Amino acid sequence: MSYATAYSPNYATARYRFRTSAQALGCRLEAYPINQTGPDGEDLTIDVAILGDPNPQQVVVVSSGLHGVEGFFGSAVQCALLEDRLLGWGSVQGAALVLLHALNPYGFAWRRRWNENNIDLNRNFLLPDEEYTGSPEKYSDFNAFFNPTSPPSSFEPFLVKAIATILRYGFTTLKNTLPVGQYDFPQGLFFGGNSQSQTYRILAANLPRWLGNATDVVHIDFHTGLGKKATYKLFIDNLPDSETVKWAIENFGSDVVETYQPGGNAYIIRGGLGTWCQAMFPQCKYKFFTAEFGTYPVIEVVEALRAENRAHFFSPPDHPSRERTRQRLVEIFAPADQVWRHTVVSQGLDLVEQAIEVCFPAQGL
Ligand SMILES: [Zn+2]
Repeated sequence: MSYATAYSPNYATARYRFRTSAQALGCRLEAYPINQTGPDGEDLTIDVAILGDPNPQQVVVVSSGLHGVEGFFGSAVQCALLEDRLLGWGSVQGAALVLLHALNPYGFAWRRRWNENNIDLNRNFLLPDEEYTGSPEKYSDFNAFFNPTSPPSSFEPFLVKAIATILRYGFTTLKNTLPVGQYDFPQGLFFGGNSQSQTYRILAANLPRWLGNATDVVHIDFHTGLGKKATYKLFIDNLPDSETVKWAIENFGSDVVETYQPGGNAYIIRGGLGTWCQAMFPQCKYKFFTAEFGTYPVIEVVEALRAENRAHFFSPPDHPSRERTRQRLVEIFAPADQVWRHTVVSQGLDLVEQAIEVCFPAQGL
């Protein structure tokens, strides 16, 4: 079977499929609406499916769509899990699986990376003692280039301008400035918000109940758009010599585990979901992995994000650039190529299976 069939053509289909498959498997289902609707007036919800012990000690959490449009892939993994890999998985004492579908339902439905307030939700989870202000030192230098206040043009020599910017500032400066999170440019890329998002509040209110008294949590948050095409890496916020990183290397392999190293691929973000989860549940051994599956070269990813953001804010309502840039964004974060689609879902399923095997010893699928 090709897992390319696990992808949905839009958010509404993905949501229906996730809920239907979860119900068929006997999961407990919950839905949390956000105060927005989709392009066809449909409800937008974060859906939750829970399987296993109602009072677990060990929990595996699998989340998708924190970055909206990246949900096409994460949802496909979750649907394939429910429709294929989890069939026959009996209830195991002390173990539960929590699936969080479409953490940014607005971005998924409208095919954006950002939420209804242009927020990058993986920069919005500041800790209670942090303030929603400030930006990396050089962000304002890059603002005019990355966030132009005009509609996108197909004829702009983006690549030439981007290379000139990289040569002028250096790739490392760019990498440590553009994507790490900023709180001062509400129409700019990687805006972390001015306050807690709806998704933040939904998770803060309910995650404690979903996890209950669990002492061990392994959380895999699915993303796309970073890394080599059709391969994946597990990004971990913890320090390279921490217990979590050692554990991850032991269980998932040193070839896929990425920690922050100066000069490496990883960069330190503000307001990341993983750091927040670990801080909120100090009583748990909470292991959080941002699973990034590669699609296109980073320069093409940035080009597509920039163009879509310009169209969103500055193109007239019915201008074709809106649809064109959204379609491009879907291709960038969930390529139509059937081999890519099958390969990454297969890898994602294996990853969840590995997490289940190590989290619930001797209770694998
Ligand atoms: Zn992402």
